[in-house]
Amino acid sequence: MKFGSIDFDNYLKDYPNKEGFFGPYGGAFIPEELKAPMAEITEAYFKIAKSRKFIAELRRIRKEFQGRPTPVSHLERLSNSLGNVQIYAKREDLNHSGAHKLNHCMGEALLAKYMGKKKIIAETGAGQHGVALATAAAYFGLECDIYMGSVDIKKQAPNVARMKILGARVVEVTHGLATLKEAVDSAFEAYMKEYKDCIYCIGSVVGPHPFPMMVRDFQHVVGEEAREQFLEMTGELPDTIIACVGGGSNAAGFFSGFINDPVEIIGVEPLGRGPKLGDHAASLSYGSEGIMHGFNSIMLKDENGDPAPVYSVASGLDYPSSGPEHAYWKDLGRVKYDVADDEATIDAFYKLSRMEGIIPAIESSHALAHAIKLAKERDHGSILVNLSGRGDKDMDYVIEHFGIPEK
Ligand SMILES: *Cc1c(COP(=O)(O)O)cnc(C)c1O
Repeated sequence: MKFGSIDFDNYLKDYPNKEGFFGPYGGAFIPEELKAPMAEITEAYFKIAKSRKFIAELRRIRKEFQGRPTPVSHLERLSNSLGNVQIYAKREDLNHSGAHKLNHCMGEALLAKYMGKKKIIAETGAGQHGVALATAAAYFGLECDIYMGSVDIKKQAPNVARMKILGARVVEVTHGLATLKEAVDSAFEAYMKEYKDCIYCIGSVVGPHPFPMMVRDFQHVVGEEAREQFLEMTGELPDTIIACVGGGSNAAGFFSGFINDPVEIIGVEPLGRGPKLGDHAASLSYGSEGIMHGFNSIMLKDENGDPAPVYSVASGLDYPSSGPEHAYWKDLGRVKYDVADDEATIDAFYKLSRMEGIIPAIESSHALAHAIKLAKERDHGSILVNLSGRGDKDMDYVIEHFGIPEK
């Protein structure tokens, strides 16, 4: 199917190209020492992860351990309260460990095992990626080192405890501001020293090639399942699909299942407190082209051209760029990117909890907030939202900062 000048019939095979580019975006802008380890992962990915044995094993794990397929739910009471538009949710909150992140962590860890590696390494900010990766490491019997800034370690005590209970080593990073950026630097430094025995596992569709491609492909199961389930439930495709976009992994997996269909696709970024730089993390909506963390994409920059400070009520969306494929989809016009602010997001969080009995992650509540907005504006149609995770992790924060509404 053609959208503009691009034919999407073989999209997943055609993109990225050999060098990891989606149009002008992506690539691998890395120090010389990292080129060999990245090439090793790329080669292993094409040789191993595309083999029938690997695919069959991952499929079995998804079913028996992760609890896939996760269902699609019709949000009937919520839909009826808004008008005629029918809203549905793909329930990644029911994926083991409570979010979509385990989909790519299990893929990356299985690849590590096939490559004969003993250890997986990553950084984490809020701890969600660290917990998912520690879960995968425990399942496969791999060592796991998670680099985390000391500021984040103090803020995210429950996730630190989870990682330790799961057997991971949480390595405290104390230099600089001691948050995510320093943790990324330290994790890459460790990886360069240890790469013979380990692989680096990134937490979203970001970083140098092959990660944006690999993570998208491991998340593709979300879109593939959702498409089939929605067709079976309703006999047709949804008119519109929506996901939240931080780095962009849940959205990339979900969208890629519908990329060749006549379906409107919308990614929702966090507008936070408003459009002023520093008050949000809506990188695709307000950013410009630039290179950070080894890839070219659209990013939010400060006056020196460095990654700008960002804010989001959802710690999982708090990132000054997004995956290169999203930047490309935006340029092509294949995906529209819009925003939801804190207020609309918290409202959606409570609406879903009270009308459907589902407490969503604040990240996912951004996507839901936009679905609610469209359902009020339109007089018919269907919307399928990717509910990327459950909100148990966010309950204390929401109550402390926003209180509990009466109704
Ligand atoms: C981490 C996280 C996100 C954001 O990450 P993406 O790579 O943009 O998907 C969204 N939802 C949940 C529940 C998360 O934990």
